[in-house]
Amino acid sequence: MMTADGYIQSLRNLGSRRAYAFGGKIDDLVDYPLIRPSINSVAMTYKLAEMPEYSDLLTATSSLTGKKINRFTHLHQGPEDLVNKVKMLRLLGTRTGACFQRCVGMDALNAMWSTTYECDRKHGTAYHERFKKYLTLWQENDWTVDGAMTDPKGDRASGPGGQTDPDVFVRVTERNDKGIVVRGAKVHQTGVLNSHEILVMPTQAMKPEEKDFALAFSVPADDPSLLYIYGRQASDTRKLEASKIDVGNINYGGQEAVVIFENTFIPWENVYLCGETDYAGMLVERFAGYHRQSYGGCKVGNGDVLIGAAQSIAEYNGAAKASHVKDKIIEMIHLNETLYCCGIACSAEGRKTPAGNYLIDMMLANICKQNVTRLPYEIARLAQDIAGGLLVTMPAAADFDQEETGAWCRKLFTGAPGVPVENRQRMFRLIENMTIGAAAVGYLTESMHGAGSPQAQRIMISRLADMEAKKKLARRLCGIEPDGLF
Ligand code: SF4
Ligand code: FE
Repeated sequence: MMTADGYIQSLRNLGSRRAYAFGGKIDDLVDYPLIRPSINSVAMTYKLAEMPEYSDLLTATSSLTGKKINRFTHLHQGPEDLVNKVKMLRLLGTRTGACFQRCVGMDALNAMWSTTYECDRKHGTAYHERFKKYLTLWQENDWTVDGAMTDPKGDRASGPGGQTDPDVFVRVTERNDKGIVVRGAKVHQTGVLNSHEILVMPTQAMKPEEKDFALAFSVPADDPSLLYIYGRQASDTRKLEASKIDVGNINYGGQEAVVIFENTFIPWENVYLCGETDYAGMLVERFAGYHRQSYGGCKVGNGDVLIGAAQSIAEYNGAAKASHVKDKIIEMIHLNETLYCCGIACSAEGRKTPAGNYLIDMMLANICKQNVTRLPYEIARLAQDIAGGLLVTMPAAADFDQEETGAWCRKLFTGAPGVPVENRQRMFRLIENMTIGAAAVGYLTESMHGAGSPQAQRIMISRLADMEAKKKLARRLCGIEPDGLF
């Protein structure tokens, strides 16, 4: 397995990437202060795996090689693995207070494993064996792999084939005996610049005539045909300031970027779906299902941090004994643990796929994510309520050090006796960071739209509800149908 230091070094060893932020090329990706916190978050997935006390959660035994591997590269072998995954993500969410990005690859590999198997059985293709070889390399190298799903999609009223600009959907533009050429882009790519490889999946279910878009493949992240554009986050330039205090979360963060495929050549050995439109939807649903489960872990871990911050700021403000504050903290805990219940439930109810790995219960995973689109917003609202307005009006850290203003700032913003004013500043900034700043991308907006926007889960919930069975229950009890028992 790779160490955290080895991971950071391995990013330095990647070939130079055409990556842009704020209109300029990023020369030193690893030490760029806007990006480094997101690298530290991924590095945490390696660091905790090195620590014996976390070995049960962070490592597993490979079903392919029998070797000890990082759980982020593991095929889930039972409900216990699925539960451990959620626990691992909660732990990492507490340690980073941000999105640690590596889960998309883990979710993609598990979806790809079962989908390629079932596709091969129906179509006589050879994707599963190819993917197995790739996954073996992935495990051996302990890669971080970006699972890439979302296309820009252009005009939502038209499908992939009906766009004025075809580049808004990833597609095959050429096939030959060596491989395929692909073009298009993926947006919202969590952790893509912190990854060794990219595993591309279709963005949605495809119709039979949309063969060129029913596509899955892997590509090294330093392939020269790739162009990256880094995504902005609220308050992101605070990371460039001299003082770290106003950043809030001083070492960790998340990352999203656009990745563009400018006529990228993919050899056949790295193609795992190409034209089998009837399996595009299955791949999307399974990946989304796993990622909807994931949120019942990572966002709960982030919630733990925010609850701790809310309790701390209440103490620093001298308001912790107020009964309404205590009650709000209890409500935050209740909401946060409700999400955890969902994450654990869909894992415990997981079932074996024909390919041998385990899939979460799809209904419960969708319920989990639907709750995640709501409850973190309420938890954030309560944290802001408890914190008070200084959360958004407090002067900059530099003003606390300035000759004329510093003494006044320190005097006016001191709260409960014995609490250094700097602790209060830091705690306000952390809550700000998580609820309206850079980390709110991960804790809130990603809770809304990541792994599919709320409506995507509602469609699945409606499809999986088995309404006929529920109607039958009602008919039996009111005598329309006999139940034949009493
Ligand atoms: Fe992992 Fe959560 Fe980030 Fe998704 S949002 S990559 S599950 S930390
Ligand atoms: Fe996400």
